[in-house]
Parts: sequence; structure tokens; C-alpha cells
Amino acid sequence: MDREQLDPWGSSSIKDYARLQTEFGIDSIEPLLPRFKKPSPHLSRGIDFGQRDLGRILDAIDDSKPFAIMSGIKPTGVFHLGTKMTADDMVYFQSLSKKATVFYAIADVEAYNDNGITLNESAKIAVQNVADILALGLDPERAIVYKQSEEMRVMRFATIFSRGVTNNMLKAIYGDRPIGLYVSALVQAGDILMPELPEFGGPKPVLVPVGADQDPHIRLARDMAAKYHDDFGFIPPSAVYHKLMLTLSGDSKMSKRNLSSSFTLDESPASAAKKVMSALTGGRATVEEQRRIGGQPDICPVYDLYKFHFATDDLHVKRVYDECAGGVRMCGECKSEAAGLVKKYLEQHQKKRESLMPDARELLVRSKAYLASAGN
Ligand code: SF4
Repeated sequence: MDREQLDPWGSSSIKDYARLQTEFGIDSIEPLLPRFKKPSPHLSRGIDFGQRDLGRILDAIDDSKPFAIMSGIKPTGVFHLGTKMTADDMVYFQSLSKKATVFYAIADVEAYNDNGITLNESAKIAVQNVADILALGLDPERAIVYKQSEEMRVMRFATIFSRGVTNNMLKAIYGDRPIGLYVSALVQAGDILMPELPEFGGPKPVLVPVGADQDPHIRLARDMAAKYHDDFGFIPPSAVYHKLMLTLSGDSKMSKRNLSSSFTLDESPASAAKKVMSALTGGRATVEEQRRIGGQPDICPVYDLYKFHFATDDLHVKRVYDECAGGVRMCGECKSEAAGLVKKYLEQHQKKRESLMPDARELLVRSKAYLASAGN
């Protein structure tokens, strides 16, 4: 049987999450669930399914000890529903402790190597990306945002780590890729381990929330943490993994590269609602058949919209599932309801984001000054 293929730069197709966990040594999140006093929708709906050393983060929360949450975005465009998922996790874990600091990288080096986007173009998109995440609830008082290309610490780490890897090691993790992508992977390992430097309080637990397809980056960063432990005292980074939602055309990964089958948080609400109305469904060939044997929510992109983002609460998700599987809910009405929720959400989010653009600019300026004062 073929291994599950994980391509952090392309479209990974993950059919079996349990198998993925076994193959790559990702632990289940389930045993840790009782430790969450107020589980996020990602936890209560089974969207966050896996983890590495998440217990270390929960210990830090319980003991009120400092920890970092590290994430980043490739500024190739505005937020789509996939990037929103990572941001939702980041915001949630930040909310669990006043001792949590978010480090947020604008991955302009990766955007150049993977997508040919110049560093100047990236800078323009970055402000809007930051405003998006503020609108999703990030507390700017405990967040540091930086551009990879301007942060010498991560570039220095990439250089140091490049001595600790061989072409074969990188090939085993990522497959045969252009050198530029290997370089950006090493820069990302630098991003993940930077919060452990002395100027940020020294070695500490770092949580990286990621989509399941990003696991290669986590494995590389953990390898580097082990390899350079004696030099920097690194604690291996922790990770929490979320499932990938289906695109509106039923593919396995939301991507900014295929906008007809997804929508961004910047899309006109009417246009996004229209896309929802033309989405593929898990419905049956006829209404009669659907009433008789029920629809298939498990393979339905519209159901994923409810589950991953837009249902009002967990009971709502369950109701949609049960009504669909029980043949009570028909696809036309179900899509209309989802389209209405999407439209309302986007209207509110866009208004909020617009009002937060000055705060996003301020956060970028403040972070830059802070990082410069911490030595670079
Ligand atoms: S009723 Fe809704 S959830 Fe069920 S298959 Fe149709 S669109 Fe999907």
C-alpha cells in the first residue's frame, strides 16, 4: 500500500488520518481533550485530530509558564478558508494563557521560492493578512509579526541548519524539490525555533498549529531542535494538526491557487454565496433516493463549510449531519442556508478587518522596533 503523500507546497490528498498518524508518528489528540476546560470548535468537532508534544503546552498553561505559538502565512494573497483554520487555532491557544506569545512570520522568502512573488509585493499583501488575523481575534499585545526576509535570526538559523542536513535527508522528508524550496524549509525551521533564543526568554515550549499536510516542516524543525540542542538548548517544538477541508469542487485541499473552487475572506459576499450554491454535494441522484437512503455528509463540501467554519454551534453541525444522513435535508435548501451563513460571516469579517487596518500597520511597526531592540 502506498504511503500517504504529504506535500506542504502542493495539494496533498489525505484519505485516512489514522493511517497518517501511524505512518508519521503523529499522536492522537483524544487523550488530551479532558485537559481543555473550554474546547475550541476545532477540538469539539474533531477537526484538530493530531499532536506532537501538545501535553508540554498544556503543562505550561496549567503552570502559568511562558510558551510561544508560532505560525506564519505565505503572503500570496488574501486569507482563504485553509489559512483561516490555522489562524483560528493560533488565536484559540493564545487565548488560553496570558503567558502565551504569538510569533507570526510573513513567509515572503517562501512566497518568492514557491510562487515567484517579489518581496515588495509580499510587503503590500502582508498588512491585509495581519488585519485578517486581528479580525479573527488575535491579541496584538502578545504578538510579534515579522517578515522572514528582514529577520536575520531566522536567516542565520537557515545557514546553521544547512550544515546539519544532507540532500538525502531533505529528499526523504520533502521529495525531490528545487533547492530554493529546501532553503525556505530551513528558514521555516528557523522561524519555529527563533522564540527559544535568549532574547525572547530562552528555551521554552513552542506550539505550531498546522494543517496535516505541513507535517514535513514540523519533522524537520524537530530534527534540527534535537541536532542543535547542545548549542541552543532547544526544546523540541510541539504541534497541533487540523484536518484539511474539502474544496467546493470536492478536492482535498483549499488553495489560493484554485479560486473557483474556494473563496477568500476578501471575496464579495454575494460572489462567495454564489459559489456555495454551485458547490458539489454529497447528495443523491434524485430527491426520492435522497429521502430514501439519505445524503452523504462525509464527502460533502457543503457539510464541511458548516463543520469547519460557519455553523453557529456544535449542535447545528450535528443537526445538519443527522438531517442529511437521515434523508430529511435536501441539498438545495442546505446550500441556501450555508450560502446565507457565508454571506453574513464575510460581511461582518470584512467590516471588522477594514476597521483594523491601522492596528495591523501599527503591529508591524511595533514588532519591527521590538525585534530591532532585541538585537538582530
Ligand atoms: S443535504 Fe447538505 S450536507 Fe447533505 S449532501 Fe446535500 S448539501 Fe451536503
